Amino acid sequence: MLSFEKLYSMGHEQVVFLSDPSCGLKAIIAVHNTTLGPALGGTRMWQYKSEEDALEDVLRLSKGMTYKAAISGLNLGGGKAVLIGDPDKDKSEALFRSYGRYLESLNGRYITAEDVNIGVADIEHIFTETRNVVGVAKIHGGSGNPAPFTALGVFRGIEACCYKVFGTRSLSGRTVALQGVGSVGQNLMKLLTDGGAKIFFTDISEKNIQTVKENFPEAEYVGPDEIYDVDADIYTPCALGATINDATIGRLKVKIVAGAANNQLKEDRHGAELKSRNVLYAPDYLINAGGLMNVSIEFEGWSENKSLRMVDTIYDTTLRIFQLSDEQNIPVNQATDILAERRINEIKNIKTSYLGNVSHRFPGRKTRHNL
Ligand code: NAD
Repeated sequence: MLSFEKLYSMGHEQVVFLSDPSCGLKAIIAVHNTTLGPALGGTRMWQYKSEEDALEDVLRLSKGMTYKAAISGLNLGGGKAVLIGDPDKDKSEALFRSYGRYLESLNGRYITAEDVNIGVADIEHIFTETRNVVGVAKIHGGSGNPAPFTALGVFRGIEACCYKVFGTRSLSGRTVALQGVGSVGQNLMKLLTDGGAKIFFTDISEKNIQTVKENFPEAEYVGPDEIYDVDADIYTPCALGATINDATIGRLKVKIVAGAANNQLKEDRHGAELKSRNVLYAPDYLINAGGLMNVSIEFEGWSENKSLRMVDTIYDTTLRIFQLSDEQNIPVNQATDILAERRINEIKNIKTSYLGNVSHRFPGRKTRHNL
């Protein structure tokens, strides 16, 4: 149940329930923290077992977005939204436009984007009613599909891991066990293959397995459960969360875990266990932030160059986190949280002094983070 005690303990600023029986809209928006800027995070549509489950999901995901934006150096806060319903039956133009109108009423405190079961066509309907949406089609001045940018960020993270473990960022001659060859996985496969890595891959979608077999004939397919046993240098989860757990961790033979999937560690303690087993773990919410970085510049005018430059910073940030993890002898996931929280607190602290009302001197001019 939603309670102020729960919001206080998780640190949320605002939770909004949206209802429009005329089109079946049932949505929850959670704004976690806006210290760094407007809360940005995707909307997902899911047939939750209960409204309680939907609430849990949106609270957890929105908090994750605060950390992701903070560690990525973005001037954005964390938020997320869930639409309760069956994506195959309940989607309609009216539902997304009604949702868009409510988003507009939040006056930019929350900006949405695509997430699970939400596609470009749905975003277009939302965009009809509000400016507070990104991931808009390129034809309308948006940034299009984020997956190639997410994949590039993951690749930069993997390079940083290789530098730390092998003394060179090159992938040449490395072996990678790749789990999930969907949108991100296939883009990543190209980067890894071009970089000279040998790939073992798995998936449960026959269609995606066939596509990869045709496009990457040198890659080797292994069964979904065998992926944890592959004798490779790197395990790259790009399908599901929580695949680093009590059942899998002892099976891994790799030296590095780095992939796109959100929340790869089933529990925080699995980060410590990877460390004790001498397996380097790349912080998932940093190295999969390429898609977020890409949509974040839509407001300033998206350009591929700008986006690529931003995504490249993931390499240095990942190394900075490894350094803190070594200096303080703490797991990488803990070091990542510390750096994210440090940035939020530092920016919070500089906002204490009154600036005066100077906007009248530059009418119409906005600062970069005041979009
Ligand atoms: P996707 O749905 O296109 O691909 C996921 C793939 O994983 C599919 O091919 C699916 O068949 C496969 N899969 C599902 N269960 C599996 C299992 N048990 N074993 C093996 N394969 C399995 O998704 P995506 O957009 O490529 O995203 C991949 C992951 O990265 C997801 O966890 C997503 O949340 C995360 N992520 C994606 C983005 C993005 O820009 N798309 C950004 C950040 C994080």
